Amino acid sequence: MVIRVSEIPDDGLSIEGADRLPQPFRDHSWRLEELSLLVERDDRDVVVRGRIAVSVPQVCGRCLERFPTRVAPEVQARFSPRPERGKEPIELGSDDLELDFYSDDSLDLAQLVETEADLALPMKPLCRADCRGLCPTCGGNRNVVECDCAGRAPDPRFAVLKDLAGRLSGQ
Ligand SMILES: [Zn+2]
Ligand SMILES: [Zn+2]
Repeated sequence: MVIRVSEIPDDGLSIEGADRLPQPFRDHSWRLEELSLLVERDDRDVVVRGRIAVSVPQVCGRCLERFPTRVAPEVQARFSPRPERGKEPIELGSDDLELDFYSDDSLDLAQLVETEADLALPMKPLCRADCRGLCPTCGGNRNVVECDCAGRAPDPRFAVLKDLAGRLSGQ
């Protein structure tokens, strides 16, 4: 959904419901579940406020299983008209690092929703806080199978690495 900035009414444009924005994501496995945004003009800027909820399949960093993550970030974004080339450069202060621009009188709401969802995703996804991960010896998923590797001798290939690491650190 592309919004014409000049057509935003004075009292703002309210966009309610995920069905107002069908498939805003490049990755079609992401799903928009909720959308409630108010788009307003502030002088020449455009301010977008509200909330979205997005379901994203992620891969657990410990056990490598896929699991759905749901994020529901607050949206608070400001867009300024993109300065034309050759004109005076705008000076970015430290507060303006997240400054966004619109150009040609248009603001792409799908892009905004994707960016906000992306920022809200965890950097190191875990299927659950106490995920037990993969066994380093047999590779089994320890959430699912109880292997007895802990009682067995470690894989000799790991022993060689451990020995090497010990020598490198001078022990
Ligand atoms: Zn996991
Ligand atoms: Zn094992």
